Amino acid sequence: MPEDDYDYDQLLKRAREDLPEEIAYHERFQIPDVESFQEGNTTIVTNFTEISDIIAREPDDILKYLLRELGTAGERDEGRILFKGRIGSRKIQEKFEDYVGKYVLCSECDKPDTRLVKEGRVTLLKCDACGAHRPIRGKKKKTRQPLTEGIEQGETYDLLIQDIGREGDGMARVGSFTIYVPGSTKGDRVKVRIDHIKGTLAFGTVVGKVSS
Ligand SMILES: [Zn+2]
Repeated sequence: MPEDDYDYDQLLKRAREDLPEEIAYHERFQIPDVESFQEGNTTIVTNFTEISDIIAREPDDILKYLLRELGTAGERDEGRILFKGRIGSRKIQEKFEDYVGKYVLCSECDKPDTRLVKEGRVTLLKCDACGAHRPIRGKKKKTRQPLTEGIEQGETYDLLIQDIGREGDGMARVGSFTIYVPGSTKGDRVKVRIDHIKGTLAFGTVVGKVSS
């Protein structure tokens, strides 16, 4: 066999192509582990500069978010953070990760190459990698579980197609909304991006299967 057939990169590439998208894209953006210790009634994060450099957002904005989420007071001190109270590093880590999910990662391509752009009263997260943008709001994970109170345009949800409409489109229900999903069929579990909402009717596009 010619040597080329053993080319590792080629094999890897072929293997990747066979993987479902979700796995192939698993080179996720990672922040460093929080390094912290407690001294009396103070918790000190020693590698804040390292983390905020990688997150690439204003250290003061990150700190403000952490303080609000942790419900404590604190300040920056030469590349460290001093939090009032004894807070475990796991908990601090979680809050950093929430911050990244909300203010840094693109919800379409999962890349951190994004900017915050103010448009009127709304702050948008714009992605330089894929061009997507989304408003900043509440806690944002990759896909949302359907909320009982409603759905939002531009968001992606895991939906169960419960019915077929008169036109043959799949239908799902979330709270009071009925969502039409062309190209899906009863029993499908699919990731659906909501394109339009009109009253309590919504129209979506299948963007992937829900892995079980
Ligand atoms: Zn993107």
